Amino acid sequence: MKRLAILGSTGSIGTQALDVVSSHPDLFRVEVLSAHSNTELLIAQARKYKPNAVVVTNDAKYETVKKALESEPVKVFAGQASLTEVVCWESVDIILGAIVGFAGLRSIYAAVDAGKRIALANKETLVVAGDLVMQRAAETGSVIIPVDSEHSAIFQCLVGEYHEAIEKVILTASGGPFRGKKPNFLVNVKASHALQHPNWTMGAKITIDSATLMNKGLEMIEAKWLFGLKNEQIDVIVHPQSAVHSFVQFTDGSLKAQAGIPDMKLPIQYALAYPQRLPNTFKRYDFKEFANLTFEEPDYKTFRNLALAKEAMFKGGNTPCVLNAANEVTVQAFLQNRVDFLEMSDIIEKTMAKVDFVAAPSFADYEYSDAEARKYAEELVKQSPLATH
Ligand code: NDP
Ligand code: MG
Repeated sequence: MKRLAILGSTGSIGTQALDVVSSHPDLFRVEVLSAHSNTELLIAQARKYKPNAVVVTNDAKYETVKKALESEPVKVFAGQASLTEVVCWESVDIILGAIVGFAGLRSIYAAVDAGKRIALANKETLVVAGDLVMQRAAETGSVIIPVDSEHSAIFQCLVGEYHEAIEKVILTASGGPFRGKKPNFLVNVKASHALQHPNWTMGAKITIDSATLMNKGLEMIEAKWLFGLKNEQIDVIVHPQSAVHSFVQFTDGSLKAQAGIPDMKLPIQYALAYPQRLPNTFKRYDFKEFANLTFEEPDYKTFRNLALAKEAMFKGGNTPCVLNAANEVTVQAFLQNRVDFLEMSDIIEKTMAKVDFVAAPSFADYEYSDAEARKYAEELVKQSPLATH
């Protein structure tokens, strides 16, 4: 029996993780759940899964949750600081990091510090501070298993292989809803359109990141740290069917791929059960449905966020942290119709140029760079013709 802390249990990944738990009640028990604002769902989840504790990170929502769960044997905590405590509890075996954005970093770092096992969906943790997180994990013996489908694919391809035998990894990208489109089209797209991903149903932030290809850029940086790769060893290929989840190319030229239907429950289950593979009733891959698998080069010129993320990866230091912060600000602004699709890249690029470079940042440096980048990106958002309307 593995006891889980599911951070971000009300999100797309969090709810799917609870489905996995429901399918294997003999293997998994929920010890902790956390959410930020969606108290209704958090309360319903607490009643159903009977965790030892729930954390509502938004302090203003504490009373609502506390009152609703009065008659349940559930401890209720509030605030981000509570998260960093519960992840260290002895009664927690695995932490699923499914909070979105920079907000997920502190609790995962605390779990790594405590030597815990982590199933990591929150890619921003590694984008921002991958060097510190992986170094600390090596020191404490914390094991990090990726949930992101591409990284789960690479992880699965690497089981039983030597690290020196990796020539490169090739991340597949669906290309998102605007694959093949050019700037004259993109300048007019609205959030409602960008939120319609062809193959995956996900939270709003990652769905916009998939439309801009920033998601793939963040994933390049995530792969670098997770698998200890050099920048030159990481490639991206667009594969619209999302059937092959990624490739590893070895020094003998052999390519290994992991494939399956696009369903996040599979990598979630793999990460929670590793090294076991659990039987399930998920839909099986049907070769008639995916008769043709195609691959094409990404359009770095149109989808500038991908080029900017790659640049940040090569630059290193606090640049990926700055990129991530500016991206979080612009995605939020785009969702609120305060900037247009193309302005997102302009703002990220300008923010990257503005914030002072730190070559070997400490944790505090990352927090400072994040705050600085947000401040500057917000100012730029305010100057957008859309925001001033
Ligand atoms: P969602 O937006 O669906 O869910 C986010 C979760 O985080 C919710 O539980 C939310 O709580 C909580 N949350 C939001 N803001 C904060 C905050 N400031 N502090 C604490 N908790 C917060 O996101 P996804 O599930 O789509 O994504 C989660 C992570 O997994 C992201 O990093 C994403 O990149 C990654 N990922 C997601 C995939 C997917 O298919 N969805 C695929 C691969 C990776 P509340 O509901 O109360 O607001
Ligand atoms: Mg992914």
